[in-house]
Amino acid sequence: MDLTVLGCSAACPVAGNPASGYLLHHEGTRIWCDAGSGTFLALLDAVDPDDLDAVVISHIHTDHCIDLFALYGYLEHGPGSGGPVPVFVPERAAEHLAAFARAGADHRFRQVLAFSEVGDGATARIGSIEMRFATAAHPVPALTIRFEAGGRSLVYSGDTGPGGGLEALSVGADVLLCEATLQGPGADRDYPYHLTADEAGEIAAGAAADRLILTHIGPTLDTRRSVAEAAGSYGRVPELALPGAVFTI
Ligand SMILES: [Zn+2]
Ligand SMILES: [Zn+2]
Repeated sequence: MDLTVLGCSAACPVAGNPASGYLLHHEGTRIWCDAGSGTFLALLDAVDPDDLDAVVISHIHTDHCIDLFALYGYLEHGPGSGGPVPVFVPERAAEHLAAFARAGADHRFRQVLAFSEVGDGATARIGSIEMRFATAAHPVPALTIRFEAGGRSLVYSGDTGPGGGLEALSVGADVLLCEATLQGPGADRDYPYHLTADEAGEIAAGAAADRLILTHIGPTLDTRRSVAEAAGSYGRVPELALPGAVFTI
């Protein structure tokens, strides 16, 4: 399974780095996971959108979902073939996204993007990739996702604070792609819905994840400090998500 980082900037795109978005590719199966601002342009460099087998949106914060509207425009009004493409979203997200598009029950938006709302414990199979979903600790319904294909596994935290389903879902993962929005001691945080780099390392160590890739680091932070803090609790030096990077899992 190959993981291409389309973008990994937390909260907003910055020069040269879109917000959160990843392309998973195993044999003939391609899944776009998170459609943060700027990621659709990066996606176009990696795949023909008509060849997507599914889209997964971890939650409806714009740095994870807003380019879904770009995909809809491409498929329905642009060069695309009109879909449909399956789109997995958290509970209550489909209505929210459709409302933004002013899409009533018969609107093409709901046909081109074939939404499935999934919650804790749900599973789905797209081509050769199996997915298992858990609830993330975030202020809106949000997903943590485990992808498995060809005997290999990737867990993507989405956005989460401590206490969600991430730890259990990550046990024995080959790769944990984990948000590390914050730095410093977790006890100092005034927002409980993101992880510090130290906490990301701790979760990876507790789950015995074989590799840890840090992502969604605050765009004003020094990533070297995040890597050092995560290494302290993980016991190894983690890798860093960078736009355009391809990780083979
Ligand atoms: Zn985010
Ligand atoms: Zn978020």
